[in-house]
Amino acid sequence: MLPSSPALAQPVFRFAPSPNGRLHLGHALSALTNQHFAAAMGGRLLLRIEDIDRQRCTPALEQALHEDLAWLGLTFAPQVRRQSEHFDDYAATLDELRRHGLLYPCFGSREAVRAAVCAQEAASGRPWPVDPDGVALYPGMGRALDKAEAQARMAAGEPHVLRLDMGRALAMAAAGLSYRVFDASGSSQIVAAQPARWGDVVLARKDVPASYHLCVVVDDALQGVTHVVRGRDLEAATDIHVLLQRLLGLPTPLYHFHELLLDEAGRKLAKSRQSESLADLRMRGLTAAALRRQLGFA
Ligand code: GLU
Repeated sequence: MLPSSPALAQPVFRFAPSPNGRLHLGHALSALTNQHFAAAMGGRLLLRIEDIDRQRCTPALEQALHEDLAWLGLTFAPQVRRQSEHFDDYAATLDELRRHGLLYPCFGSREAVRAAVCAQEAASGRPWPVDPDGVALYPGMGRALDKAEAQARMAAGEPHVLRLDMGRALAMAAAGLSYRVFDASGSSQIVAAQPARWGDVVLARKDVPASYHLCVVVDDALQGVTHVVRGRDLEAATDIHVLLQRLLGLPTPLYHFHELLLDEAGRKLAKSRQSESLADLRMRGLTAAALRRQLGFA
């Protein structure tokens, strides 16, 4: 028996692509793995369009995404959720975190943050710590800003991001942050979450009044998602999601991380690296059935 959430009769899965480029084989693997688990567990599979980045996500790319998924033979339960239609939900969640004193604005540019990191390294003579993605942890200048001044600058429309005060968040979340990871054999194990390694993460961007981490947590809860199936590249980020779920009193789904497909150079496939798209493969004559077989789905 594969594990399912005891609270809900029917498991709910979701595939959550971003229409900011054409889908590639890695997306197909993720979608098909979701479909496989949903079918094996008698679950529902939802589609969520993660399109908060209004610059990079376009209607044409979203249309292409639907075509690629239909070609792959994937069908989804209603309703499709488009994140760009739910900024109110994300604003309400940011308000809740703000009321708990867990958010603060940061007005510094990327260059200012980089300069602060360099200054810290020069002063300590040691390399500054990085997060699991290899990005330098935020050195925390914005945290010290006077509250009234921060308010005035926000009210005046000065561009800023909103960061989670990780120290406070961890204190509020209390000990024992963990989640359950399930695998194809049907067993699951408890894994400790270590969100501290991400530092004060950004929960609302300068250009977008939300962030991936915020939206994914809000939406998984609103959509009743019980099983999150995603690539290993998002395994470490799950720590942030579990922390936010605890802070917001939301349920933590079960998680499964599938392996990533790599290119000849050993790098994970990525839209930004122009990895061959499903549309390219289709044009070269690959059938959906052959692609499924290639990815291990009969
Ligand atoms: N939208 C994310 C992506 O395309 C995946 C979302 C998730 O699994 O949380 O990488």
